[in-house]
Amino acid sequence: MTALAGAALAALLATAQPAIATEAGDPVGAAFDEAAAEYQVPRDLLVAVGYGETRLDDHDGLPSHARGYGVMHLVSNPTHRTLETAAAETGLPTAELRRDTTANIHGGAAVLRAYADDLGLSAADRGDLGAWYPVVARYGGATEDVTARLYADAVYELLRDGISAPVAGGERVEVAPRPVSPERGRYAAASLGTLSTDYPPARWVPASSANYATGRTQPISAVVIHVTQGSYAGSISWFQNPASQVSAHYVIRSSDGEVTQTVRDANTAWHARSGNPYSIGIEHEGWVDQPSWFTDAMYRSSAALTRHLADRYGIPRDRQHIVGHSEVPGNDHTDPGPHWDWDHYMELIGGDPGEPGAPQLDFPSYATLSSGSTGPQVAALQHLLTQNGHNAGATDGDFGPATGSAVRSFQSSRGLTADGVVGRRTWTALLSAGTRPSLGEGSTGEAVSRLQRALTAALGRTVSIDGDFGPLTEQAVRDYQSSRGLSVDGLVGSQTWTALQAGR
Ligand SMILES: [Zn+2]
Repeated sequence: MTALAGAALAALLATAQPAIATEAGDPVGAAFDEAAAEYQVPRDLLVAVGYGETRLDDHDGLPSHARGYGVMHLVSNPTHRTLETAAAETGLPTAELRRDTTANIHGGAAVLRAYADDLGLSAADRGDLGAWYPVVARYGGATEDVTARLYADAVYELLRDGISAPVAGGERVEVAPRPVSPERGRYAAASLGTLSTDYPPARWVPASSANYATGRTQPISAVVIHVTQGSYAGSISWFQNPASQVSAHYVIRSSDGEVTQTVRDANTAWHARSGNPYSIGIEHEGWVDQPSWFTDAMYRSSAALTRHLADRYGIPRDRQHIVGHSEVPGNDHTDPGPHWDWDHYMELIGGDPGEPGAPQLDFPSYATLSSGSTGPQVAALQHLLTQNGHNAGATDGDFGPATGSAVRSFQSSRGLTADGVVGRRTWTALLSAGTRPSLGEGSTGEAVSRLQRALTAALGRTVSIDGDFGPLTEQAVRDYQSSRGLSVDGLVGSQTWTALQAGR
């Protein structure tokens, strides 16, 4: 060993020394110490990279949105393959790297070391925390320098502020705060100063244009709340990656509530399937099973953004319009999950904390639905069935067996053929179900909307659903009455309601 390498190694060991002695029986802390020594990666840097990715939670081996695994978030997706690199460097199988925390930490250290060698870090450089900056920037997998910088800066902020992370088994992994001097190199030129024009408190870091649609097919009428299942910078990177085919309008950082906009409000981000055309998607850094990510700074920042969106687009501040991803019909995601505090959030928005209510019921036409159908009209069907005493199971937009039996039960109760297929007659009966107030031109309110929906289904043509009984509604009533052999007076009394509710 040359004198220079010896000095570098001494420097490295000083850096690599754990700030707090690891006690026997602390396997995660021990894994960080061992992996740092084996791959000559500063121990605190290794911890900070893992903490920035996952708060050192392995999520039972389940993947993140970007297909990353374990506390070090070893990634296997079409453009970033740290999991495979880790396997090649350590000789461990990918299955073990995904599921075993000790292996995963060794894998993360091996990837960092391989990148350090690639980038030409000498033994002396490896003892210098600041010199690892471009290595960390690359580890995050960003396709653009600005996002790589966002990622690496977050790691150096953790090193500066220190870490005290509770991990599985009651153990705690600690990093003492220290002054940092990241050597950003070419990343220093990547400006983080560009601000959003839609929402000036936010940064503007655009998603790949392959991951959203330009323009919108419907007006903005809802905000969808998401949880990233991955880190802040990692999520923004993912939206910049054309392979991901996903995006959201805004991403919010857990630690301080920083907001980055990635898709303009006027464009259709891909975050909630059937909900995309009419909603703004907000991603919150964190994991649904880990409440520690849901900081008050993040709630407050998100609420300020949602309040701004509600004012700008006339979105009602209630739980029918401020919804979770899991509440959007036709979605199978569970975010934001049980740890998201809806009451607190709605209070911060200055809105109504009431329960999520009716899904969208107003459509220009009502399609024939049967077992296997999916989407917002199925959710509307399920909601109406359950509301009318025929339990359709979860309002999830999936026409399964529970929905089928509720449809048959409803059909029998109305004297319709109980075939489980929702066509014109079943829709008409279901959409009109309820009280039978007398309505005529000038009437307003929910009963008028109910009438307008039922007429849309019964006549097979769009009767605009606005809760206002005007001349067009009256004409539709007359058309319905004459086609059904009722007396034609343009007034909706018990005779017309009875016919509608029988699905005629
Ligand atoms: Zn989501």
